[in-house]
Amino acid sequence: MNNTHKVLIEDIEQATNKKLEYKFDDVIEEIPSNGNIQADLVLESLGEFIKISGNIKLIAKLECDICLNEYEENMNFEIEEMFAKNSLMEEYGQELELKDGQFITDLNGENEIDIKDLLYQSVIINLPDKKVCGIKCKEGFFETDETYKIPDARMEVFKNIKVDRK
Ligand SMILES: [Zn+2]
Repeated sequence: MNNTHKVLIEDIEQATNKKLEYKFDDVIEEIPSNGNIQADLVLESLGEFIKISGNIKLIAKLECDICLNEYEENMNFEIEEMFAKNSLMEEYGQELELKDGQFITDLNGENEIDIKDLLYQSVIINLPDKKVCGIKCKEGFFETDETYKIPDARMEVFKNIKVDRK
């Protein structure tokens, strides 16, 4: 089964107070996870813009940067995204930055928003910078070059990584 999760802009505008709640509880094929990805979102029409905010939860299956084993990472984060109904491109270029890294996505006159696509992008952006499977690998990662013994030839690459110690 391949569910689509698209919401018509019209449905948001016709909702009470122009706010629509959207619950996502499904897998996203491109993101390996233990169980479904769950999101509680509020889609709100602000005239020319659509604001989507809410919480995303999942247990992502990631590959450890150190031992290369698969491990599970609990992810739970908030999003707030803005979409412009009509193209802003001519005036502002493809993406307009609102504040501190918040961008407005241009819908280019599309009449629907793909929630699955939004969630995919959000999970990718929120993946941890350092993917480590557990305390053992974490300790290895923060050891200095002198004491950290490289256990595996594949790990050679990490020898040259400089880690700032707090
Ligand atoms: Zn590991």
